[in-house]
Amino acid sequence: MPNWAIHLIVPLLALLITGKKEDYKYILLLLPLAILPDLDTFVTQHRALLHNIFIPLILLASGWIIREKRTLFVIAAIYTGSHVILDMFSGGVVLFYPLYDKITYVDISLRMSQANDLIWTFDYGFAEYGKNWMNAYGYITDSAGTGAMAFILLAVICAVYRNRIMGHE
Ligand SMILES: [Zn+2]
Repeated sequence: MPNWAIHLIVPLLALLITGKKEDYKYILLLLPLAILPDLDTFVTQHRALLHNIFIPLILLASGWIIREKRTLFVIAAIYTGSHVILDMFSGGVVLFYPLYDKITYVDISLRMSQANDLIWTFDYGFAEYGKNWMNAYGYITDSAGTGAMAFILLAVICAVYRNRIMGHE
């Protein structure tokens, strides 16, 4: 399970760089959607139920239909979609759940072996959706992730506090 901090920072940064200033409100308010797919950890069918391509697609379609709320739906689609993509690079997701029950994965990595050789991996494809995924064993957040999230939370508190003080000036 990858870091929630990565799931939060990557799309947030992308949206803050590309987004318009008047959309910042939505970008911050919808941020929890970036980790929402991991709620399926607590049910069953982890990396499948909420980790598929259809949820961002439905959000995009909704934005296409409901024009006045388009920005909101597009941002929501980016948050949920980025989660699915990042997980695809980190073990894999059942991308086409419930239509096709295989894990779609991408593995591109560069490692240093004990003999100081560079090991370059480039692999992608479909794999069996095993019991380990289904039952979501393992970390919900690892220690580095918790530290990073505490840091982000502190930054948000500072931002809110600063705005409040500036608001009173
Ligand atoms: Zn996930």
